[in-house]
Amino acid sequence: MTTGSSLLILGQGADPASERGVSCPGELPPASDPALVERARAAKAALGDRLFVLGHHYQRDEVIQFADVTGDSFKLAQEAAARPQAPYIVFCGVHFMAESADILTSADQQVVLPDLAAGCSMADMATYDQVEECWEVLEDAGIADDVVPITYMNSSADIKAFVGRHGGVVCTSSNARRALEWAFAKGSKVLFLPDQHLGRNTAVLEMGLSLDDCVVYSPNRPDGGLSTAELRDATMILWRGHCSVHGRFSLDSVNEVRARIPGVNVLVHPECRHEVVRAADLIGSTEYIIRTIDEAPAGTAWAVGTELNLVKRLAGRHPDKTVVFLDRTVCFCSTMNRIDLPHLVWSLESLAQGEVVNQITVEAETAHYARVALDRMLALP
Ligand code: SF4
Repeated sequence: MTTGSSLLILGQGADPASERGVSCPGELPPASDPALVERARAAKAALGDRLFVLGHHYQRDEVIQFADVTGDSFKLAQEAAARPQAPYIVFCGVHFMAESADILTSADQQVVLPDLAAGCSMADMATYDQVEECWEVLEDAGIADDVVPITYMNSSADIKAFVGRHGGVVCTSSNARRALEWAFAKGSKVLFLPDQHLGRNTAVLEMGLSLDDCVVYSPNRPDGGLSTAELRDATMILWRGHCSVHGRFSLDSVNEVRARIPGVNVLVHPECRHEVVRAADLIGSTEYIIRTIDEAPAGTAWAVGTELNLVKRLAGRHPDKTVVFLDRTVCFCSTMNRIDLPHLVWSLESLAQGEVVNQITVEAETAHYARVALDRMLALP
């Protein structure tokens, strides 16, 4: 099962199993062009109401300045769906987000990803074939009927569709607990895709399960590297996937910042590793992180464990508070950062000339079942 968009690796042909893509067709303006900002403004003005630009919180400043709305992946997909009058949706985010926007928007709207190489390493860690194979392992172990699959929003449309077909649900980092409660009312086990950390952190810290209730399924090992007994005993079967940005924060990062900034509050995203989340003061989604810093009293200090572009923007917005990045090393989302001003200008100017470039289209059956899993999420109590 593949989506309708061809994702190409370095111009060498299609690779439907990967989120990664290829450089854009046509001529990109050079990054050194001093008129880029002006060109983006002019193209946006020429397109007027026909265009709606979405900007994910982790985008660069040079791109986010042109966003009509900013948000996390789910909020942006909803915003796109709420603008049926805009035939062109330019999604400054990564591939799976543009897919979700295509699924939730009308057939008349076209979703454009300014650089097809803007994929997501986490979403890449669970391919359709691997998840099908995993399900066969669960069937062979005699437990598939007891398992409810949940996939994090950060997964390809194929995986969302798989989950929709098998009675499961999509979740975000804000509603993962509600999704787990819903799933455990239906079955005795959960297969959580593709982020092991969000699954483990929610199950253990919010649902009261123990680490011993969780096993990790490794897609590259025979039978996931698990025995039949381990699968039968487990309550949470966690996919071995993670975010390459949030997975970098360590317990050392937390200890180091506490020693460096006395009284600092450590605020992290639940995609961080379990020991990091346990050592933090506050845990929450990107929207929660933004709200917490916005509402914090002046004079307070915060070490934030999430993507660096967002942390830098929060620090700039609150000069009366100390806001630092949790780790000392640079930690941008490299794929999200593929969307830069030259790619944005190129896609906007192409649209203004009537040419739709880098359109993301999800094949109808995949879109249908992915929507089933998304609608179940929207109906969560
Ligand atoms: S921050 Fe992590 S989960 Fe988000 S797009 Fe980048 S790699 Fe994927």
